[in-house]
Amino acid sequence: MIEDPGSQATTHLPFININKRTKQILIASHSQKKRHPQHMFIVFIIGTAGSGKSLLTASFTDWLRLSKQNVIAVNLDPGVFTLPYTPDIDIRDYIKIEQLMEQYGLGPNGALIMAADLIAEETERLGEEIATFNPDIALIDTPGQMELFAFRASGPYIANELTKEPRALIYLFDSVFSSNPLNYVSNVFLAAAVYNRFFTPQVHVLSKSDLLPPEDMNRIVDWSADPTALEAAIEEKLTGTRRLLSRDVIHAVYRLGLKFLLIPVSAKTNEGFVSLNATLERILASGEKFTP
Ligand code: GDP
Repeated sequence: MIEDPGSQATTHLPFININKRTKQILIASHSQKKRHPQHMFIVFIIGTAGSGKSLLTASFTDWLRLSKQNVIAVNLDPGVFTLPYTPDIDIRDYIKIEQLMEQYGLGPNGALIMAADLIAEETERLGEEIATFNPDIALIDTPGQMELFAFRASGPYIANELTKEPRALIYLFDSVFSSNPLNYVSNVFLAAAVYNRFFTPQVHVLSKSDLLPPEDMNRIVDWSADPTALEAAIEEKLTGTRRLLSRDVIHAVYRLGLKFLLIPVSAKTNEGFVSLNATLERILASGEKFTP
């Protein structure tokens, strides 16, 4: 399931040559000199389809701007139809899904996978376009289907190459989906897999906090903060193999020393933005504001 960057050429899809070409470009561009501004922080927003990436990008960009922060919003999803914000930079200006479908005789999914790989080839241009805005912070809305970004070679490559300045990932736990222990554990597992791909500071957000009653939100936050609370929920709510597997997955993640403390956030009401911002500032700017 989690592809090693080195195994991209083994794909059975018809654009195998593109993957090989992408690889060559990745290697060649490693040695090229970057022209990015100083102190530009990049935050990638990642999560499963529908977890709230685009709306968070929209609302958090607005909120940061109101706080007089010099921020831009970047859309990195070539397949998205409509967005709740006007991106300052839009990958759809570089890569057109319909064109790929036509040119290579691909269906929508094949074209999306091809587009995900092609994004890597645009890293240099994207970096230059971001630099023209000279932002202090760029929020990057990643492709709707997380695996296209996180589990192919291009995502970690872009994350590494767009900036050498501190960067971070926001991983979204959809609160409605995560409200039962089985789904919560699945999400922890995915978040651990993403961390394993990027090795970048990762902030964990419980999205859509306005959709659950406060007591339900608090319960999920407790699971994230206290292993015994989560284990008690697994014992209480799950049975049989699901209980055993969930317990083992959680123990494996704890053994790795990974922590998934969740910050409840609503992109509808802006609840939690102060905490999210403080956490990002601590990680990226040593506690200072992004724009002094
Ligand atoms: P993405 O696929 O991860 O980019 O998810 P979207 O941002 O497109 O959101 C998916 C759906 O969830 C949309 O209908 C959003 O309006 C909704 N949504 C996203 N964030 C929130 C939130 O904080 N609160 C509520 N109530 N709905 C949200």
